[in-house]
Amino acid sequence: MGHYSRLNYNFPALIYNGPVTGTARVKTKKQRRRPSFDLVRCKRCSICCHFCPEGAIGLHPDGTPYLLEPEACRACRLCEDMCPDWAICLRSEQAGDAS
Ligand code: SF4
Ligand code: SF4
Repeated sequence: MGHYSRLNYNFPALIYNGPVTGTARVKTKKQRRRPSFDLVRCKRCSICCHFCPEGAIGLHPDGTPYLLEPEACRACRLCEDMCPDWAICLRSEQAGDAS
């Protein structure tokens, strides 16, 4: 019997070393959604920047919004909801997308 104890025999999960299976989905960076700004609609009011709870939106000197901290964005959609001109839409981030 060696060192194969009765404990491991009764609780095989303790010694299982195979692949873990399940239905849990892990969001990868590729799947995350980020705000996209329609600068034709945008009237540079800065509301989105002020309401973002993560400080993820920055403003250029002319008031044009941009995603300042992509990693800080948690896709809460508050900016999208608060924009008075429907100029923000959360989109799935594309591989290699800089915004
Ligand atoms: S809230 Fe909308 S209109 Fe105002 S700066 Fe942001 S994107 Fe532009
Ligand atoms: S989705 Fe939320 S966290 Fe991301 S930029 Fe908009 S307000 Fe900020």
